[in-house]
Amino acid sequence: MARDPRYDLLFEPVRIGPVTARNRFYQVPHCNGMGHGHPHAHAKMRETKAEGGWAVVCTEEASIHVSSDISPYVEARIWDDHDLPALELMCEGVHRHGALAGIELVHKGPSCANLYTRETPWGPSHQPVNSYDPIQVRAMDRADIRNMRHWHREAALRAKRAGFDVIYVYAGHDISLPMHFLQRRRNERTDEYGGSIENRARLFRELIEETKDAVGDRCAVVVRLAVDELMGPEGLTSETEGREVLELLGELPDLWDVNISSWYNDSQTSRFAKEGFQEPYTAFVKKLTTKPVVGVGRFTSPDTMVSQIKRGVLDMIGAARPSIADPFLPKKIEEGRPEDIRECIGCNICVSGDFLITPYRCTQNPTQGEEWRKGWHPEIIQAKASVASVLVVGAGPAGLEAARALGQRGYAVHLAEATEELGGRVNREAKLPGLAEWARVRDWRLGQIEKLPNVEIYRASRLAAAEIREFGAAHVVIATGSAWRRDGVGRAHSRAIPGFERPEVFTPDDIMAGKLPARGPVVVYDDDHYYMGGVIAEKLRQAGFEVALVTGADTASAWTANTLEIKPIQKRLIAAGITLLVKQEIAAFRRDHVALACVYGGPATTHPCNAVVTVTARLPEDALYRELVADKAALDEAGIRSVQAIGDCWAPATIALAVYAGHRYARELEAPVAPAVPFRRELPREVV
Ligand code: ADP
Ligand code: SF4
Repeated sequence: MARDPRYDLLFEPVRIGPVTARNRFYQVPHCNGMGHGHPHAHAKMRETKAEGGWAVVCTEEASIHVSSDISPYVEARIWDDHDLPALELMCEGVHRHGALAGIELVHKGPSCANLYTRETPWGPSHQPVNSYDPIQVRAMDRADIRNMRHWHREAALRAKRAGFDVIYVYAGHDISLPMHFLQRRRNERTDEYGGSIENRARLFRELIEETKDAVGDRCAVVVRLAVDELMGPEGLTSETEGREVLELLGELPDLWDVNISSWYNDSQTSRFAKEGFQEPYTAFVKKLTTKPVVGVGRFTSPDTMVSQIKRGVLDMIGAARPSIADPFLPKKIEEGRPEDIRECIGCNICVSGDFLITPYRCTQNPTQGEEWRKGWHPEIIQAKASVASVLVVGAGPAGLEAARALGQRGYAVHLAEATEELGGRVNREAKLPGLAEWARVRDWRLGQIEKLPNVEIYRASRLAAAEIREFGAAHVVIATGSAWRRDGVGRAHSRAIPGFERPEVFTPDDIMAGKLPARGPVVVYDDDHYYMGGVIAEKLRQAGFEVALVTGADTASAWTANTLEIKPIQKRLIAAGITLLVKQEIAAFRRDHVALACVYGGPATTHPCNAVVTVTARLPEDALYRELVADKAALDEAGIRSVQAIGDCWAPATIALAVYAGHRYARELEAPVAPAVPFRRELPREVV
């Protein structure tokens, strides 16, 4: 299909110093949990984005020196020449598809405790490291600053040798040495590197100048700067010192990549920020420089992108998460099929990989991180192995993805859903406060299935075992999901909580189905620790109930520390007037109160309530699966060759894992049996 001429603007080349980007799509640096630990997986993941049309594809933070060791997190390293083969792999892959390869050189200063290298952390002033590690940063003297500049220059030269076209000087977020020098609250120096903004920007300026001098003949030297830290006068703001840095250095680098800080502000989830949310903070930048400006804002709509450029907000469309959810986003716009874009839902499951030190996973894109390991391409799948038909039972994320990917393989697919609506849990959860964009998990799959004539959908079709046997499909996939427990059993309780048998106890399924308590106050018991307890509390508060959230953890929704949401969630719950009773477990639900036990042995207390919503654990809805597999003879008689349960029906987990399970089923159907380790590993090479 021809490209919509309205989007032509997005495909204009952009000159960045000595290099030219083929279009305006720029994959900004982003973590991925692979880094130096999984170089092949990392290189293939970046290459896939270049293949998908991104004009610039960058690494994550690449540490320039042993004094900048961010362990245990796994990022890129360019400490010496031993790190180059891994980085060369990426450059080769990116260049193969005509894109520019960028590297984000970083010295993390006080933001690393150097747990692996055991070097002394450096910073502008004596201060504790940013983490809770009981280690202090040493204030750099002039010789240290000279050394650091030398290391940066050396790293830039190595990066050029590795083949990079775009080389960063990094002052983004709250986690780099140049940024720490810029920050008045962290820079107590009285020499030429402290005091006035000119002085605090000196190191940043020197690094840009010296990098240009070292590699600027062939490489673009670009900067990343957080122009607003969203903390008022305590930090940089776009009205004050963020702007002043631009006034001082505006023409120095070849491109400005600007964002807001810290990471939890920069990568806000859709629960807290919508597409283009950084514009109010970064829009001023273009007025202060003639150099190209790139910025992010979870852009997935080509109309929004065009508007950013036409209105003079940005020159290039920066993206991390949208490029993870759909590495082929630019290609899809270019080929006139923007409706095929697999839009990021803003859940930050990807980000959790960084905190949990595992390769990134994505809710929308089950192939993310599997490009090299399993050889999964986001757009291509192997053709069907036979003419067999497949019956998929249940149209939640697992069933929808299985049906879509099986359909893409060419199988005759029948998707039966008990209810009138498709989407399963995504359908219900997207109606909870702030989660509307999660419906994209359903919508993208339905949009793709509509284009597949070999996938048939049967709504309002709750299938029983006998009907499945009669149906006559060769393979049956059971994706019937899960249901929240009512008895309080979960992590904290291995037996039912006394009083939870009462009719005043509700589950998230009840609340999502519109079954609300007759009267409050309501206690939400969060023993799940992800988003559900918090959003249910929010929903009940919006419905006018007096609400308290009880959890044995130190905060509500404790696991969301991994999705950068823990702070905004606490703020939102507190602002809504929800009482947070943390470090408490419910011991019993009695007449008009819950009895609480402090997890650290403090005094037992009570809290008044007339209803409880229990958010502890889910049980698979697997009765149908169990019934089918229990009668092998009947399956044989019906000509059913395989029955498999997937997603929450197999073991309740995240939406990301349900999508992955559906995708994996489709990839592996009638494929050769996978070996014991069903993926390639990057084993240490130097073990002798
Ligand atoms: P998952 O996350 O694993 O995809 P969901 O709970 O989101 O699971 O989706 C399960 C879907 O299966 C729901 O839409 C539910 O209505 C449907 N379902 C459950 N039992 C049956 C059945 N017997 N026949 C058809 N559909 C079913
Ligand atoms: Fe977007 Fe979620 Fe995928 Fe991250 S995991 S890219 S936030 S859909």
